[in-house]
Amino acid sequence: MITIGLPRGLYYFKHYVLWEEFFRNLGCDIVVSDETNKHILDMGVKYCSNETCLPVKVFHGHVMSLKDKVDYIFIPRYISVDKNEYTCPNFCGLPDMTALNLKNQVKILDINVHIDMFPYLILKSLKELGKVLNLEYSYVVNALKEAYLVFTKKQESSNNFEPFNSIKDKTKISLSILGHPYMIYDSYLSMKLIEKLNKRNISIYTPDNIDNITKRINAYPFQGKIFWDIGFELLGSAFTFTSNEVVDGIIYLTPFACGVDAFILEFIQRRFKSSDSLPILKLTVDEHTGEAGFDTRVEAFLDMVG
Ligand code: SF4
Repeated sequence: MITIGLPRGLYYFKHYVLWEEFFRNLGCDIVVSDETNKHILDMGVKYCSNETCLPVKVFHGHVMSLKDKVDYIFIPRYISVDKNEYTCPNFCGLPDMTALNLKNQVKILDINVHIDMFPYLILKSLKELGKVLNLEYSYVVNALKEAYLVFTKKQESSNNFEPFNSIKDKTKISLSILGHPYMIYDSYLSMKLIEKLNKRNISIYTPDNIDNITKRINAYPFQGKIFWDIGFELLGSAFTFTSNEVVDGIIYLTPFACGVDAFILEFIQRRFKSSDSLPILKLTVDEHTGEAGFDTRVEAFLDMVG
């Protein structure tokens, strides 16, 4: 049986249900890399240039950790995942960048996802993937269709925030944790932030709690214009939570060297300043960030909003 490796980094945090289900439907064995740890981070740092953003470095570490355990490592090439929306350039070149940085030590299986302009590329990729895995094209297409149904169902169930009906629980602190999913849900990179806040009985809201359309409507000042998909997600989430006064503050977790966040954070902070809005704490994480200093800043912020 063919074994497929799924690196626990980047898109994995958003689409793991889709791809795990897909390869399971194809009858493949799946190995997901371990949760991020120091060894994985160090391997990623070793193989990437200094200027590379932290999540991409970590992704390389995950790929290396799978190298000798699987037949292929699956790395989708996401160019656009919706109409008029594009991914960060790192995602567009991820399979090539990984192969190059790791000096072709791993066998990569990729799929091209370009929903905005060339949606048929997915079908072309599935044909090629079928050839590599020695499977019928129609079988591969059906496997993806079925996986997509499971994925959308799971996604809908997490969009549980009702922008116009949500009422703040006055007895509890509520915070919005913003950032890329591979930052806020990776417990090593986020220093277990969500877990620590949950232990203190703080209500947490993330971009996953809001449906896609609401986020795009509220993504001031870019509503409806071509933009990075993650930009819509973060701007839309920040202004949805704050316009409904459901949260007491925002913690924005940003990785070192993220070009997208450099823009997004600026827009959020400017708008908050001009409208005397909510307190926001920006926490930048890089490979040298220490947990003690990180926790101290969170504590100080909680004192302020509490
Ligand atoms: S969006 Fe930022 S963190 Fe994510 S891959 Fe691009 S540069 Fe890196």
